[in-house]
Amino acid sequence: MSASRDTVDPTRLPNFERLQRLHQAVAGCTRCGLSTTRTNAVPGSGPCPAEIMIVGEAPGFNEDMQGKPFVGQAGKLLDSLLAGIGLRRDEVYITNVLKCRPPQNRDPMPNEVEACAGYLTWQIRLVEPKVVIVLGRHALERLLPGHGPISRVHGQMLDRDGLKYVAVYHPAAALHNGSLLNDLQADFLSVRRYLEEVLAPPPTPELEASAPSTPPQQLTLL
Ligand code: URA
Repeated sequence: MSASRDTVDPTRLPNFERLQRLHQAVAGCTRCGLSTTRTNAVPGSGPCPAEIMIVGEAPGFNEDMQGKPFVGQAGKLLDSLLAGIGLRRDEVYITNVLKCRPPQNRDPMPNEVEACAGYLTWQIRLVEPKVVIVLGRHALERLLPGHGPISRVHGQMLDRDGLKYVAVYHPAAALHNGSLLNDLQADFLSVRRYLEEVLAPPPTPELEASAPSTPPQQLTLL
Protein backbone atom coordinates (compact mmCIF):
# COMPACT_ATOMS: atom_id res chain seq x y z
CA MET A 1 0.00 0.00 0.00
CA SER A 2 1.36 3.46 -0.83
CA ALA A 3 2.14 5.93 1.95
CA SER A 4 -0.60 8.39 2.88
CA ARG A 5 -0.35 11.85 1.33
CA ASP A 6 0.19 13.26 4.86
CA THR A 7 3.26 11.12 5.51
CA VAL A 8 6.37 13.30 5.74
CA ASP A 9 9.73 11.95 4.70
CA PRO A 10 11.85 13.16 7.68
CA THR A 11 14.99 13.45 5.55
CA ARG A 12 13.25 16.22 3.54
CA LEU A 13 12.49 18.37 6.57
CA PRO A 14 14.66 21.38 7.43
CA ASN A 15 17.50 20.52 9.82
CA PHE A 16 15.87 22.53 12.60
CA GLU A 17 12.74 20.36 12.47
CA ARG A 18 14.79 17.17 12.26
CA LEU A 19 16.66 18.30 15.34
CA GLN A 20 13.36 18.89 17.17
CA ARG A 21 12.38 15.32 16.31
CA LEU A 22 15.70 14.07 17.61
CA HIS A 23 15.11 16.00 20.86
CA GLN A 24 11.71 14.29 21.18
CA ALA A 25 13.32 10.89 20.61
CA VAL A 26 15.90 11.63 23.32
CA ALA A 27 13.14 12.71 25.73
CA GLY A 28 11.57 9.26 25.45
CA CYS A 29 14.78 7.25 25.06
CA THR A 30 15.15 3.93 26.90
CA ARG A 31 18.38 2.76 25.30
CA CYS A 32 20.27 2.38 28.59
CA GLY A 33 19.67 2.09 32.32
CA LEU A 34 19.95 5.85 32.89
CA SER A 35 16.41 6.17 31.54
CA THR A 36 15.19 4.55 34.78
CA THR A 37 17.01 6.96 37.11
CA ARG A 38 16.64 10.29 35.27
CA THR A 39 14.03 12.93 36.04
CA ASN A 40 14.32 14.48 32.58
CA ALA A 41 16.46 13.68 29.59
CA VAL A 42 18.54 16.65 28.43
CA PRO A 43 18.74 16.58 24.61
CA GLY A 44 20.39 19.96 24.02
CA SER A 45 19.50 23.58 23.37
CA GLY A 46 20.27 26.35 20.94
CA PRO A 47 19.85 27.42 17.34
CA CYS A 48 20.14 25.17 14.29
CA PRO A 49 22.23 25.78 12.30
CA ALA A 50 24.81 27.26 14.69
CA GLU A 51 28.39 28.32 14.04
CA ILE A 52 29.49 27.03 17.45
CA MET A 53 28.46 23.77 19.07
CA ILE A 54 29.50 22.95 22.64
CA VAL A 55 29.64 19.37 23.91
CA GLY A 56 29.88 18.63 27.62
CA GLU A 57 29.96 15.37 29.55
CA ALA A 58 26.53 14.64 31.03
CA PRO A 59 23.68 16.42 32.81
CA GLY A 60 24.09 17.04 36.53
CA PHE A 61 21.47 17.57 39.24
CA ASN A 62 20.11 20.91 37.97
CA GLU A 63 20.11 19.84 34.33
CA ASP A 64 18.23 16.64 35.22
CA MET A 65 15.64 18.70 37.09
CA GLN A 66 15.13 21.25 34.31
CA GLY A 67 15.80 19.17 31.17
CA LYS A 68 18.28 21.83 29.95
CA PRO A 69 22.06 21.64 29.60
CA PHE A 70 24.48 23.67 31.73
CA VAL A 71 22.02 25.44 34.02
CA GLY A 72 24.06 25.00 37.25
CA GLN A 73 27.36 26.51 38.44
CA ALA A 74 29.37 25.11 35.52
CA GLY A 75 26.77 26.67 33.23
CA LYS A 76 27.26 30.08 34.82
CA LEU A 77 30.98 29.84 34.15
CA LEU A 78 30.27 28.70 30.60
CA ASP A 79 28.04 31.75 30.10
CA SER A 80 30.81 34.08 31.27
CA LEU A 81 33.39 32.36 29.04
CA LEU A 82 31.03 32.87 26.10
CA ALA A 83 30.43 36.49 27.09
CA GLY A 84 34.22 36.94 27.15
CA ILE A 85 34.28 36.20 23.42
CA GLY A 86 31.21 38.26 22.66
CA LEU A 87 28.63 35.47 22.56
CA ARG A 88 25.38 34.75 24.33
CA ARG A 89 24.30 31.22 25.16
CA ASP A 90 21.31 31.47 22.81
CA GLU A 91 23.74 31.91 19.89
CA VAL A 92 25.41 28.51 20.38
CA TYR A 93 24.07 24.97 20.38
CA ILE A 94 24.87 23.12 23.63
CA THR A 95 24.60 19.42 24.35
CA ASN A 96 26.37 16.57 26.17
CA VAL A 97 27.85 13.18 25.38
CA LEU A 98 25.22 11.60 27.66
CA LYS A 99 21.67 12.91 27.54
CA CYS A 100 20.72 11.56 30.98
CA ARG A 101 22.29 12.17 34.38
CA PRO A 102 24.43 9.36 35.77
CA PRO A 103 23.46 8.74 39.43
CA GLN A 104 25.58 10.79 41.85
CA ASN A 105 27.21 12.40 38.80
CA ARG A 106 29.53 9.41 38.36
CA ASP A 107 31.60 9.13 35.18
CA PRO A 108 29.77 7.94 32.05
CA MET A 109 30.08 4.19 31.45
CA PRO A 110 31.14 2.88 28.02
CA ASN A 111 27.75 1.24 27.35
CA GLU A 112 25.99 4.55 28.13
CA VAL A 113 28.29 6.51 25.81
CA GLU A 114 27.67 3.90 23.12
CA ALA A 115 23.89 4.03 23.61
CA CYS A 116 23.92 7.85 23.18
CA ALA A 117 26.51 7.96 20.39
CA GLY A 118 24.07 8.17 17.48
CA TYR A 119 22.26 11.15 18.96
CA LEU A 120 25.43 13.22 19.17
CA THR A 121 26.55 12.20 15.69
CA TRP A 122 23.20 13.37 14.27
CA GLN A 123 23.21 16.57 16.30
CA ILE A 124 26.57 17.52 14.76
CA ARG A 125 25.30 16.71 11.25
CA LEU A 126 22.11 18.72 11.68
CA VAL A 127 23.59 21.74 13.49
CA GLU A 128 26.47 21.99 10.97
CA PRO A 129 28.82 23.94 13.28
CA LYS A 130 31.97 25.69 12.06
CA VAL A 131 33.68 24.63 15.27
CA VAL A 132 32.85 22.21 18.08
CA ILE A 133 34.07 23.15 21.56
CA VAL A 134 34.75 19.93 23.43
CA LEU A 135 34.42 20.33 27.20
CA GLY A 136 36.56 17.99 29.26
CA ARG A 137 38.12 14.58 28.91
CA HIS A 138 34.97 12.50 28.46
CA ALA A 139 33.76 14.57 25.51
CA LEU A 140 37.32 14.53 24.15
CA GLU A 141 37.45 10.73 24.34
CA ARG A 142 34.05 10.43 22.64
CA LEU A 143 34.68 12.92 19.82
CA LEU A 144 38.45 12.73 19.30
CA PRO A 145 39.57 9.35 20.60
CA GLY A 146 43.32 8.84 20.71
CA HIS A 147 44.24 12.53 20.64
CA GLY A 148 45.95 12.39 24.01
CA PRO A 149 45.17 13.96 27.38
CA ILE A 150 43.28 17.22 27.59
CA SER A 151 46.22 18.80 29.43
CA ARG A 152 48.21 18.43 26.19
CA VAL A 153 45.64 19.11 23.45
CA HIS A 154 43.54 21.85 25.03
CA GLY A 155 43.33 24.99 22.92
CA GLN A 156 44.57 23.32 19.73
CA MET A 157 42.36 23.46 16.65
CA LEU A 158 41.92 19.81 15.64
CA ASP A 159 40.47 18.48 12.41
CA ARG A 160 38.38 15.32 12.14
CA ASP A 161 36.37 14.39 9.07
CA GLY A 162 36.55 17.96 7.80
CA LEU A 163 35.17 19.47 10.99
CA LYS A 164 37.13 21.68 13.42
CA TYR A 165 37.22 20.85 17.10
CA VAL A 166 38.87 22.58 20.01
CA ALA A 167 39.10 20.76 23.33
CA VAL A 168 39.12 22.82 26.52
CA TYR A 169 39.05 22.00 30.21
CA HIS A 170 35.57 21.33 31.56
CA PRO A 171 34.21 24.44 33.37
CA ALA A 172 33.44 22.22 36.41
CA ALA A 173 37.14 21.29 36.56
CA ALA A 174 38.04 24.99 36.59
CA LEU A 175 35.54 25.57 39.41
CA HIS A 176 37.40 22.96 41.47
CA ASN A 177 40.87 24.03 40.39
CA GLY A 178 41.08 27.76 39.75
CA SER A 179 44.52 27.44 38.13
CA LEU A 180 42.77 26.04 35.00
CA LEU A 181 40.73 29.20 34.50
CA ASN A 182 43.42 31.14 32.63
CA ASP A 183 43.86 28.27 30.16
CA LEU A 184 40.11 28.01 29.73
CA GLN A 185 39.76 31.72 28.95
CA ALA A 186 42.75 31.64 26.58
CA ASP A 187 41.28 28.60 24.77
CA PHE A 188 37.94 30.36 24.27
CA LEU A 189 39.84 33.33 22.83
CA SER A 190 41.51 30.98 20.35
CA VAL A 191 38.02 29.90 19.24
CA ARG A 192 37.13 33.52 18.61
CA ARG A 193 40.35 34.10 16.66
CA TYR A 194 39.63 31.01 14.57
CA LEU A 195 36.12 32.20 13.75
CA GLU A 196 37.40 35.65 12.86
CA GLU A 197 39.93 34.11 10.48
CA VAL A 198 37.67 31.50 8.94
CA LEU A 199 34.37 33.35 8.72
CA ALA A 200 35.74 36.69 7.60
CA PRO A 201 38.79 35.95 5.43
CA PRO A 202 40.58 39.03 4.11
CA PRO A 203 39.70 39.76 0.47
CA THR A 204 42.18 38.44 -2.05
CA PRO A 205 44.12 41.15 -4.00
CA GLU A 206 42.14 40.38 -7.20
CA LEU A 207 38.81 40.71 -5.43
CA GLU A 208 39.96 43.84 -3.65
CA ALA A 209 40.78 45.48 -6.98
CA SER A 210 37.37 44.66 -8.49
CA ALA A 211 35.22 44.91 -5.36
CA PRO A 212 32.64 47.69 -5.10
CA SER A 213 33.37 50.21 -2.34
CA THR A 214 31.03 48.68 0.27
CA PRO A 215 32.19 48.36 3.89
CA PRO A 216 33.75 45.01 4.93
CA GLN A 217 31.28 42.32 6.04
CA GLN A 218 30.83 41.99 9.79
CA LEU A 219 30.89 38.62 11.52
CA THR A 220 27.34 37.72 12.42
CA LEU A 221 28.25 36.34 15.83
CA LEU A 222 31.27 38.27 17.06
N1 URA B 1 28.25 19.40 33.16
C1 URA B 1 28.11 18.89 31.93
O1 URA B 1 29.01 18.28 31.40
N2 URA B 1 26.96 19.08 31.30
C2 URA B 1 25.96 19.76 31.82
O2 URA B 1 24.93 19.90 31.17
C3 URA B 1 26.14 20.30 33.11
C4 URA B 1 27.28 20.11 33.77
